[in-house]
Amino acid sequence: MKRLLVLILSVLAAASVLTSGAHAARKLKVVATIPDLKSLTEAVGGDLVEVESLTRGTQNFHEAEVRPSMMLKLRRADAVVENGLGLDAWADVAIDASNNASIVRGGRGRIDISRNVEVLEVPSTRVDRSMGDVHPQGNPHFSLDPGLAPVITQNIADGLARVTPENRAAFEQNRQAFLARLETEMVKWTKAMEPVKGAKVVVFHPVYVYFLTRFGLVQAATLEDRPGIPPSPQHLVTVIRQMKEEKIKAILVEPWNDVKLANRVAEEAGAKALVMASAVGAVKGADNYIAAIDYNVGMLSKALR
Ligand SMILES: [Zn+2]
Repeated sequence: MKRLLVLILSVLAAASVLTSGAHAARKLKVVATIPDLKSLTEAVGGDLVEVESLTRGTQNFHEAEVRPSMMLKLRRADAVVENGLGLDAWADVAIDASNNASIVRGGRGRIDISRNVEVLEVPSTRVDRSMGDVHPQGNPHFSLDPGLAPVITQNIADGLARVTPENRAAFEQNRQAFLARLETEMVKWTKAMEPVKGAKVVVFHPVYVYFLTRFGLVQAATLEDRPGIPPSPQHLVTVIRQMKEEKIKAILVEPWNDVKLANRVAEEAGAKALVMASAVGAVKGADNYIAAIDYNVGMLSKALR
């Protein structure tokens, strides 16, 4: 009997050592709504986090479908990193259904990266969502503007530190190292874009306006009549005329847009349609934040020369 008790006690002790060891090494489980934010959260969180994205870069984020697999990921999550400005509003449904109090709006594990971002294309009149306009709060596609990475990663570092305050210094150190790397790339990118500064481009959906503005390029028109509203023939006629008049050389396309249509319009206007890295993972070779920006800089600096 005594021997059995000793055995039980030693098994319990071993188990408790195991769990406390596992606890110390346990990584923070973070869910990002889009892959750009997964990449940035990995840069800030380093070895301390394990990040999953709810969507893939080849998807239209406006139309992501809430799936049971999302709720499973969210139920286990210590933190959620969201884009905000309505881009990932669908995540609210999944988060509410996941029954995880720390990631509901206002919870300490809820991280909105749009905080302190200066929003572009804010509608001057009230936008009616029922008409299909998908940017009612302004343009939400800012995550791949390298100039906003300091603000975005600050939001991520602050959020992760709310969940594990003891790791604040480590997050800040990772963040600074990442921003230093990005700054080195930025010097190269700025130099590559210098010769095409001031060039006008047409976009299918306004995904690149922050990026274009950062490098001194101009979004002259969109193929969509309004954000999220499919191109109408009348509108396309106007855009083609504008492209000819202003000698616009490129239409920037996301992989899931109607690429055939973009090609037809480009051909008509004497331009080229370019499938861009509209997100991390949208095209081959753009599998992290820096690689995606590098892809877009390479594409534009060549095509617009
Ligand atoms: Zn959009």
